[in-house]
Amino acid sequence: MAGIFFFACIIGLLILTGLAQAGVKSAFNKYSKVRSSSGMTGAQAAEAMLQAAGINGVRIERSQGGMLSDHYDPTANVIRLSPEVYGSHSVAALVVAFHEAGHAIQKANRYAPLVIRNLVVPMASFGSGAGMVLIIIGLMLNTLGLAILGLLLFSAVVFFQLVNLPVEFDASARAKRALIQHGFVHGADEEKGVNKVLNAAALTYVAATAVSVFYLLYYAMIIFSRR
Ligand SMILES: [Zn+2]
Repeated sequence: MAGIFFFACIIGLLILTGLAQAGVKSAFNKYSKVRSSSGMTGAQAAEAMLQAAGINGVRIERSQGGMLSDHYDPTANVIRLSPEVYGSHSVAALVVAFHEAGHAIQKANRYAPLVIRNLVVPMASFGSGAGMVLIIIGLMLNTLGLAILGLLLFSAVVFFQLVNLPVEFDASARAKRALIQHGFVHGADEEKGVNKVLNAAALTYVAATAVSVFYLLYYAMIIFSRR
């Protein structure tokens, strides 16, 4: 009975994740057509935010990645912006560029959740593939030790996603504060765009994390009910 409940939650949350991702794309598309009154490109805006925070040595590169592939690489200390953001003057481009600059500022300030998140990355990337495979093989062969090992590996993924939430929320909060403080966005319409894009992005992280939490609970329940 509890199994059906968890499974239904997973399906519901997967649908929510899909909707949330569609929401980000639609908010980004909408506000990528609204030109910001600052007249800056995404790349210039990220640079300006870093300078205002007194941070040097972060490279800002134009990547060949697709839409919303923008990210900050803490190892190389590089902000990689997609072509839609790097050279664009839109409100959406500024929001994304500021969010990524927010991550670079977190790194410079040794923001604790980011430090913890980066420590968990190797374990989580190993666990995301191997964890689920071991759980399924362990259950098929009725080798519970193997399944529990898989569960432990998969819990590293869940832990990564949980510490990633404050990292993402904080980067967005920094972006929002800086955008308004430094006058990069003006007026209610541009501010609304900022909120829409950031809130939609936040929902995708929450939904994806909730999916993983419920997968973990679901498999834990199956494994421990077989003992
Ligand atoms: Zn982020």
